[in-house]
Amino acid sequence: MDKKTRDDLLKLFQSKLDEAMRLYLETCTRCGVCTEACHAYASMGQVKYIAAYRHEIVRRIYKRYFKGRGRVWPAVGEAKELSEMALDELYEAAYSCTGCRRCMVYCPFGIDTQMLMSIAKLLLIGAHTEPEILTMLADTSIEKGRSLALFKESFLTGIKNLEAEVVKKWRMEAGETAIPIDVEGADLLYVALAGAHSIVPAAAIFDAAGENWTLSFFEAVNFGAFVGDPTKTRLILDRIVQEAKRLKVKEVCICECGTAFRVMKQLSGKQPFEVSAVTEVHARYLREGRIKVDKSRFKKKPITYHDPCQIARNGGVIDEPRYILEHLTGDFQEMSPDPRYNWCCGGGGGLVALGEDTLDFRMKSAKVKVDQVKATGAQILATACENCHTQLSNLNDHYQMGVDVRFLSSMVADALVQ
Ligand code: SF4
Ligand code: SF4
Repeated sequence: MDKKTRDDLLKLFQSKLDEAMRLYLETCTRCGVCTEACHAYASMGQVKYIAAYRHEIVRRIYKRYFKGRGRVWPAVGEAKELSEMALDELYEAAYSCTGCRRCMVYCPFGIDTQMLMSIAKLLLIGAHTEPEILTMLADTSIEKGRSLALFKESFLTGIKNLEAEVVKKWRMEAGETAIPIDVEGADLLYVALAGAHSIVPAAAIFDAAGENWTLSFFEAVNFGAFVGDPTKTRLILDRIVQEAKRLKVKEVCICECGTAFRVMKQLSGKQPFEVSAVTEVHARYLREGRIKVDKSRFKKKPITYHDPCQIARNGGVIDEPRYILEHLTGDFQEMSPDPRYNWCCGGGGGLVALGEDTLDFRMKSAKVKVDQVKATGAQILATACENCHTQLSNLNDHYQMGVDVRFLSSMVADALVQ
């Protein structure tokens, strides 16, 4: 690695060194409590997947360039040169970590692996060795925000074609708009993912609840966050924030996408609107009697629920899906351990978005998740995140689990009582 490249990468490293990050980099006592916490280690038994081992790869570079002893006397201690080989190690550590933060709840110091891996991801971007597809997808989202006029008409046509499906799911009055878009003064802006599965059930529920809502022009997913690019994460987020302000909505509701929810909730700052996960909104409708669901709709099949890490452990939405499930079944089977310590599905952090390239690792590293689901005896496995749904469906096929993997919102929509 030439000097200029290294200097540029070290500037990126420096940009991440706030007080919290320095604390994470300087605190680990190597107590080993986090050893069994990572699903990849628990499933595969390889030391390189222990959280503290991943930290160490970043920490050694920190010691070499940002600590006095490492700078003056690099051969001692555990300082490590930033080299091509170090970049390979950073890649392996960062793109086998889903950012689920399970290790963080075990660590007595709350060391945040996801934050430490964000340094690794930023260095990979600086060295142009990040997964290119994630950057391309992030750029496409940003471009869409800049040239809304170019795709507006085709988007509106696509949505019109979906309205008949919503009407079929939920009886509408003649003349009503099943999927309102661009409504200034709406109470709620719903930010969906691309695809009917994220729009139709949600629209049916909003309409059944009599919500004054409007659909966002933008898809919720934030590829900038997956690839760990803070600038792109912000630009993708800002498209939705600006749209919400333009329409003067009171609430931005994020669809079943864990990362999109966490980014909007934790990074959008103080805004004139509330941020909610669609699960929270559905629970609210049930609580207020705005919608009713048929408890016999799922034919007394045992149901379990996978908590998406970014929505539950990292986003605090734990009670609401359970409240919804109380209305959908008399046979809810909770997983063990409970939501705070729930095993990650193994698909987060951009791994599902990398598709076939990560499939083998995703299947092997999530064996503990499969065992956790099987132990419930459930026939329906519900979840509330697109990434989790894809990964759990892949696991279902690979391990022949024999469960029906469902989005919680589609279950609510299917059980709506007129
Ligand atoms: S954040 Fe999750 S995937 Fe990453 S090291 Fe910790 S437990 Fe493992
Ligand atoms: S639990 Fe925390 S302090 Fe202990 S080894 Fe793991 S990261 Fe270090």
